[in-house]
Amino acid sequence: MIHSENIGAKSAILLIYTGGTIGMKEDPSVHALRPFNFSQILEEVPELGKFAYRIDSYTFDPLIDSSDVEPSMWLALADLIEERYDQYDGFVILHGTDTMAYSASALSFMIEGLTKPVIFTGSQLPIGIPRTDGKENLISSVEIAAAKDADGHALVPEVCIYFDNVLMRGNRASKVNSDHFSAFRSPNLPPLAEAGISIRYNKSLIIRPSDWNKAPKFHKNLDTRVSILKMHPGITPQIVRTILCGKDTRAVIMETYGAGNAPSKEWFLEIVQEAAAAGKIIINVTQCIAGSVNMDIYATGKCLKESGVVNGYDSTTESALGKLFHLMGAYEDNADVKAGFESDLRGEISK
Ligand code: ASP
Repeated sequence: MIHSENIGAKSAILLIYTGGTIGMKEDPSVHALRPFNFSQILEEVPELGKFAYRIDSYTFDPLIDSSDVEPSMWLALADLIEERYDQYDGFVILHGTDTMAYSASALSFMIEGLTKPVIFTGSQLPIGIPRTDGKENLISSVEIAAAKDADGHALVPEVCIYFDNVLMRGNRASKVNSDHFSAFRSPNLPPLAEAGISIRYNKSLIIRPSDWNKAPKFHKNLDTRVSILKMHPGITPQIVRTILCGKDTRAVIMETYGAGNAPSKEWFLEIVQEAAAAGKIIINVTQCIAGSVNMDIYATGKCLKESGVVNGYDSTTESALGKLFHLMGAYEDNADVKAGFESDLRGEISK
């Protein structure tokens, strides 16, 4: 469904509404929050009309709580952005916070060579509630999506998350708080911009395309055969084997301790080797909120490296998942997937 405001004005922004708390209100019959329609959101934010931009909107049907997000929605988002790429200067995606970091990560890998901003935002409180954080998040996201430099190029041609005055690279952010307004953090990369009295852009960090006139490439083949194994004291051989060697699994993201360490027990390494021999791609990311994997520091890490485990560096789990879906969709050969994973594709890792 398309809805237009301020036709004839300068920049053009497409607001894409997928659901999430920002657009929910209480359904008295079940005493739970449910999504309401987009024109009601716009009514709550008359400030948007003060921008000299054309703001169109597109509403997903059905609207969802982002806990229900599937890769099919990422494909629909990529299709929509590709189809309307030439008509808009930037895209703002209203999305539930619960899986926003997964969606922003996936989209960052699905679109190569972006020349326009794709900004995800949402809120912790519905937009109809007086203390909502949704208005500021939405208004500033629109301003960032429309922001250009003196040459007329987008200031932030990246997939980002804007939340509570901070603009983060999408594939660097994680949801860290379920009730504070500052729900997201980007622990391994400083903000791309911060909003105060003015919006201050951290230009040295923002990735710019090599050719502004080249259309981006949309990668829409996703292979989702990924499992996640989180290390914990007391983990059993049965659990590790089930996850690492599952027949429907092509890759496993292993969330290890600290700098990439896992148990040094013989059974554990034997299962890792068994999985590697069976052709499973095993990625090592840390369960620490900040910092990087380095498999050369401790003996336990070294054994993983020798068994063919791939270094995830300072990747978030959300980013690793989207990156694997994309790389496995692009390459048949696991060696290509592993080499791609250890490369910095969209600013998602620091090497
Ligand atoms: N459950 C909601 C969602 O992710 C939470 C939110 O939007 O903040 O859709």
